[in-house]
Amino acid sequence: MKYCSECGSSRLERRLQGHDTHYRMFCGECDKVFYHNPKMIAGCIVEHEGKFLMCQRAINPRPGSWTLPAGFMECGETVEEAAVREVWEETGARVEIVAPYSLFSVPQIDEVYIMFRARLLEFTDQPGPETAEARLLAPEEIPWENIFYPAIKDILQRYIAEYNKSSFGMYLGCSQEGTVHFAH
Ligand SMILES: [Zn+2]
Repeated sequence: MKYCSECGSSRLERRLQGHDTHYRMFCGECDKVFYHNPKMIAGCIVEHEGKFLMCQRAINPRPGSWTLPAGFMECGETVEEAAVREVWEETGARVEIVAPYSLFSVPQIDEVYIMFRARLLEFTDQPGPETAEARLLAPEEIPWENIFYPAIKDILQRYIAEYNKSSFGMYLGCSQEGTVHFAH
């Protein structure tokens, strides 16, 4: 950011003000504060008859790699709506949320992920432009070596192990402090 969005001044500065706990960007002209907070990413693990809905990325980053459908939450929607919308946009599948499954923070890049368990309602097989291919894959069909994000691989492996026992927990994690898992 080069100019204040309020008054157009280029006098932007970082400072700690009053009792605030964090340094903020301020406009030196009109005193507007520019808050910068983590982004929320929502997605789903969609299981259907022992298969799991995955998509192959068509765009950067990592085109060709496989992942679970997820994406940035938009303003004005709930986190559940964001997860359902992202699944629809990336895979062409209509789903309904069952329960939250995994919540993890990536403080290095200021992102928070929430993954829900979801039930498949309809699979149109018409993925959006960000997706090369969307498929329901049995565990042995999943291209484990081609899942770029370790956390996604971790979540999916854990989910499949729990699916085989029909008992799902809630997983909390962070890339710095390892993982904590609360079983029901
Ligand atoms: Zn200003």
